[in-house]
Amino acid sequence: MDDQEHATERERAREIYRRIVAVSGGWEPTALSYYEGQPFKALVASMLSAQTREEHTIAATRALFALADNPSDMLKLTDEQILGAIRRVNYPLVKAGYLRDISTKLVERGGDVPETIEALMALKGVGWKVAVLTLAVAYGRTEDITVDVHVLRISIRMGLIPRETKQPPRANELLKLVMPRELWGEWNGLMVQFGRAICTPTYPKCKICPVRDLCPRIGV
Ligand code: SF4
Repeated sequence: MDDQEHATERERAREIYRRIVAVSGGWEPTALSYYEGQPFKALVASMLSAQTREEHTIAATRALFALADNPSDMLKLTDEQILGAIRRVNYPLVKAGYLRDISTKLVERGGDVPETIEALMALKGVGWKVAVLTLAVAYGRTEDITVDVHVLRISIRMGLIPRETKQPPRANELLKLVMPRELWGEWNGLMVQFGRAICTPTYPKCKICPVRDLCPRIGV
C-alpha cells in the first residue's frame, strides 16, 4: 500500500469511527474505562481482563478494589479473599499469583506503576497488550493501539489489516498506518463495545451495522 492508499484508508477509518460513535450511546462502558488516570487499578484491571469477558472483569475489579486499592494493602489480603473477588475471571489462580508478584514489585519501587512498555513487561503477567492498555488507561499514553481479540477480529473483517495478521504488536504497526493518529487511544475501547454489541465473534449483526457499506466483511 502506498502513501495515497494509506490516506484513503485513514479517511475510511475516520468515517467508520464517526458512525460507530454515533450509535454507541447506550452501550455499556468497558471495564477499563472505570480506571482512567488510576495507574494501579488500570494495571490490575488490564491484567485481569486478559481472556476474560467484560462483565466478569467489571465484577472482579469492583470486588477486589473494595478490599484493597493499592499494592501494599493488596499484599495484606489472604489468598481466599483474592480468589473470592476474582473467581469469575479466567485463570483466577494464575492471576492471583500475578497480582501478588506485581504488588510486591510495586511496593519495592515505592508504589509507582512503571511508565514504559519495557518496565511494565518486566512484571509477571504483563505482556505487550496489557502494557499498552495500562499506559493508555493509566497515563493517557497513545503511542500504540491496544490490540486485543476484538480489535484483531474487527480490523481483519473491515479489511484494515491483512487476514493473516496474528500477533498484536504486528497488528498495531499495521493499524497505525491506516488509522488517523487522533483515534489511536480510543480505538480499543470503542472496538470492545462494538464487538460486544454488533460485530460479535460469531454471527455478527451485519444487517444492522452502521458501517456495512464500508466493510468488506472479510471472513464473515
Ligand atoms: S458489516 Fe458485519 S463484519 Fe463488518 S463491521 Fe459490521 S458487523 Fe462487523
